[in-house]
Amino acid sequence: MPLVTSTEILAHAEAECYGVGAFNAINMESAQAIFEAAEIERAPFILQVTQTTLGYTEPEELVALIKALAEKSTVPVALHLDHGRSFEKVMQFLRLGFTSVMIDGTLQEDGKSPRSYEENVAVTKKVVEAAHAVGVPVEGEIGMLGQIGEDLKGGEEALTDPDLAAQFVKETGVDILAVGVGTTHGLFKGRPIIRHDRLQEIDRKVDVPLVMHGSTGVPDEDVQLGIKEGIRKINYDTGIRIGFLEAVSAEMKKIEQEWAEADAAGKVRKYDIRRVLKPARAAMVESVRERMRTFLSSGQADKFPVRGRKVDEAKAAEKAREAAVAQVLE
Ligand SMILES: [Zn+2]
Repeated sequence: MPLVTSTEILAHAEAECYGVGAFNAINMESAQAIFEAAEIERAPFILQVTQTTLGYTEPEELVALIKALAEKSTVPVALHLDHGRSFEKVMQFLRLGFTSVMIDGTLQEDGKSPRSYEENVAVTKKVVEAAHAVGVPVEGEIGMLGQIGEDLKGGEEALTDPDLAAQFVKETGVDILAVGVGTTHGLFKGRPIIRHDRLQEIDRKVDVPLVMHGSTGVPDEDVQLGIKEGIRKINYDTGIRIGFLEAVSAEMKKIEQEWAEADAAGKVRKYDIRRVLKPARAAMVESVRERMRTFLSSGQADKFPVRGRKVDEAKAAEKAREAAVAQVLE
């Protein structure tokens, strides 16, 4: 199936009141696991890649793999850049054929020092103009999300200001908005306090789909209430990493035991990398499936079919985007 844009998937999620999981792929196994989970659950989803992942692997290599998986997929999927930090980086991803991009203008390119509101507007607006010229929607961010290891405890400083959010959407033209309502990247030290009052107020004032970043560890009831309150895209990454690493660790313990037994019996050790990666991939599939059910997105792919004439339309849209990228960005 051709890739669709995040706007198409999020509009369907709005109509049917569910959340769209946005899952990060970093290698072959995680990409395969996310696609497999979506296929089993019949859940539309967003496959996302961060710009730092592409420092770990060559962009073309990972993207070629993801596109091959998308081609085989029978559920709608958008390919999204997670936390683009600069105009140039976002352009790189548009050239790679991404059908959705995020510009995180809250932080400077180093990903640490804050940008002012005005700087955020300036860089976001510039990205929106370029992305819209090639038919690709943009996610922006206003209000700081917690960083790994931070405990927000519902503190005001970490929350998005509803009026400023409305002004930001108006000034930049973003299609999707990431908001701070108490979640943090990575794991929480305690139980997170999700500020539903604030989320409701933002949703009343902002008319684009809202995004919850850092959903790992957020209780299911908070996630599902958030969906009722306007959260449409839910980023889930740390939980996938946990599934992967715990499975690797458990399998390695067994393998080390077998090596010790082989050594003691004077036999040769066996070495098979797949022995570790297979259970790790299976753990990621389970982790993503469980989230898709929590997000109420399971089964939704069949209510949002991209079949027959719609496949032709999606293919035509894909061609038009590619032609626009070649024309506008090269
Ligand atoms: Zn994030």
